[in-house]
Amino acid sequence: MAPANVPAPLEGKKRRIGVMTSGGDAPGMNGAVRAVVRMAIHNDCEAFAIYEGYDGLVKGGDMIREMHWEDVRGFLSEGGTLIGTARCMEFMQRDGRRTAAKNMIIKGIDALIICGGDGSLTGADKFRAEWPSLLEELLERKELTKEQVDPFRHLNIVGLVGSIDNDLSMTDATIGCYTSLARICEAIDSVDTTAVSHQRAFVIEVMGRHCGWLALSAGVATGADFVFTPENPPYPGWEKEMLKQVKKQRAMGKRKTIVVVAEGAIDRELKKITCEQVKDVLAKDGGLDTRITTLGHVQRGGTPSAYDRMLATLQGAEAVKAVLEATPETPSPVICIQENKIVRRSLLEAVAQTKEVAVAIENKDFERAMQLRDTEFAEQYKSYHITTAANLPELRLPEEKRMRVGIIHVGAPAGGMNAATRAAVAYCIARGHTPVALHNGFPGIIRHHSDEPVGAVRDIKWVDAETWASKGGSEIGTNRGLPSEDLETTAFVFKKYNIQSLFVVGGFEAFTAVSELRKAREHYKAFKIPIVIVPATISNNVPGTEYSIGSDTCLNALIQYADACRQSASASRRRVFVIETQGGESGYIATVAGLSIGALAVYTPEDGINLKMLDRDIDHLAAVFRKDKGISRSGKVILVNEKASKTYSVQTIAQMIAEAGKGKFESRHGVPGHFQQGTTPSPMDRVRAVRFATKAMQHLEEFIGQDADEIDEDPMSVSVVGIKGSKLLFSPMEQVEKKETEWHRRRPKHEFWMALKETVDTLSGRPQAPKNP
Ligand code: ATP
Repeated sequence: MAPANVPAPLEGKKRRIGVMTSGGDAPGMNGAVRAVVRMAIHNDCEAFAIYEGYDGLVKGGDMIREMHWEDVRGFLSEGGTLIGTARCMEFMQRDGRRTAAKNMIIKGIDALIICGGDGSLTGADKFRAEWPSLLEELLERKELTKEQVDPFRHLNIVGLVGSIDNDLSMTDATIGCYTSLARICEAIDSVDTTAVSHQRAFVIEVMGRHCGWLALSAGVATGADFVFTPENPPYPGWEKEMLKQVKKQRAMGKRKTIVVVAEGAIDRELKKITCEQVKDVLAKDGGLDTRITTLGHVQRGGTPSAYDRMLATLQGAEAVKAVLEATPETPSPVICIQENKIVRRSLLEAVAQTKEVAVAIENKDFERAMQLRDTEFAEQYKSYHITTAANLPELRLPEEKRMRVGIIHVGAPAGGMNAATRAAVAYCIARGHTPVALHNGFPGIIRHHSDEPVGAVRDIKWVDAETWASKGGSEIGTNRGLPSEDLETTAFVFKKYNIQSLFVVGGFEAFTAVSELRKAREHYKAFKIPIVIVPATISNNVPGTEYSIGSDTCLNALIQYADACRQSASASRRRVFVIETQGGESGYIATVAGLSIGALAVYTPEDGINLKMLDRDIDHLAAVFRKDKGISRSGKVILVNEKASKTYSVQTIAQMIAEAGKGKFESRHGVPGHFQQGTTPSPMDRVRAVRFATKAMQHLEEFIGQDADEIDEDPMSVSVVGIKGSKLLFSPMEQVEKKETEWHRRRPKHEFWMALKETVDTLSGRPQAPKNP
């Protein structure tokens, strides 16, 4: 066979980077492709899309096409994968992989970024391992010459995990899993209402042949009664156990029963547990009117959630960086996320560890299977167990160790506040503590004392809290007021109701309130109790954590708003939306929303707004519209944080843009306002609320048996739970207040997300503004 033509290698460090999506489609894959293409172009590389997964690589020719900046416009908000995906049998064979190698060289591609599930990444790993011998074979068969092959001796492969199942070890989340979880939760929330009306039981089957993440997370987010997964199968006699659990809940007043079954659910003898079986137990033995709902492919579909867009974007960008930094010795990485940190892990090890899960399950070593999943998964299981297992004798503490736990919400409502409270209540009940609601924040209890009997302090009953998993707002009432309004009365109320520990849910006001209580300890013994803050605010500005409950709900509301604005531009095409976001003095929401919608520019209080910046951005807009020639379907969006500037409001900016556009493009402004608090909290906020709440309750329990002075002396007795980098941890308030807080700006001193702004700008092609001009 005559050797094929091969393009000359690119000069210097420049690369030709191929990107493909493979295996089952997952929402967010398009965001990854967009980020790879644009990041590659930004770094003077060429980007190629390989259509239809490995199929395209094996077929070559027109299935591998160069991608330009404009080609990926509008990709971020699209579900599925626009460059196609397939299951490719030829690539499973060595001949197929040899042809794939040849096609890559023919196109001059020397780096491959593959977004897919464990199967696709296994294929990628095999391809990488075989690469040198595949090249030798191509030479032996005279399909390519030595000169042609030599520049391609080292193949760089980078994996991106795109899969709704969240089944790859070493990463907390895969691209697509949170969108899929959102679809599942929407469905369960809908089923819930009819279940309550008719007092029915529903058995819901969700995807996950080998991984129970979707089932477990859906169970946690919706407060399901029972969950079946492949990694942690139920013990023999599960039928009785499930019925006991369900009956207990019903006896406490619950009107519905939800059981979530993963597609791959098995028992400890590896026998499949089917929805029919579960239904029979509930209906025949339990006497419940029971229905089965199989969710099927709706779980794969729809527009990606804010998190998946962000994850895909950051991981795509990181993948290109990994390609550019790779040396011949660098092992192929897979881009992962651990807690809040994008990290590179060995592709080989991640794939091997994932396979080990299947082996562990086969060997009935379920403990090992659980260990091999990420830490969040195992913790989620524990939280789920303890927050659904009301009255399990082995969990109950002896009488003398039980506490009265005050629960209070402070500040504006945020999605997930109720889920956190529900989890805390469930935890209390399981352990024998008494959960006490302090209604309507500190002013609520202060007022309560002065004009009794309002009933602002009440023990919470499970039958009330049980329904709060998916509710937005604040069920126990929240208020911005601080204890300093009347510390005397606050202390009096704590004493009167024997509050022995305090669980505070809220944002910066909650942080301020707890700071006041801590400082007032020297005057009021009632405050010498363990206190913990569960951060919950859409602004995500609580010092001591990089993530606050409610921020994800807000981001989803914002992208929904921005997507709607853009869609409305499809008629007029050349329209710019200037949208005001909340976030107080923190530009977090604006920046991350900017990343998730592909904003043209983001204005934050951290950087402010000045005329030069606006001028540059307007010029950039004009250039974008000139190039665009009206082809793209969507409008452009600029996000402006509410406190970015006292002078330049969204209205002013929109007018300036319209004026400069002079008939070539127009502009509108929008203020979503309280819409950003969202309606139903996002599954991520709900799931994390349960995790934070469980951890926070465990933390409060550590002080049981200590007297007031011992508690006072321990800095950890007043703390904030949060995520920092790749860890979930408690930070002592005193240290956070003194070292980590920019009080007058109501935000943390170090804002971890600041580096993300550069990615927003890079991916929109925005010219860089000089710092502090
Ligand atoms: P999902 O998580 O949605 O199932 P996946 O990536 O695991 O996605 P698979 O169907 O397992 O999906 O794999 C996709 C493609 O990857 C296969 O069709 C095949 O082309 C390639 N592939 C998978 N496993 C291997 C392997 N062991 N060797 C070579 N190629 C493989």
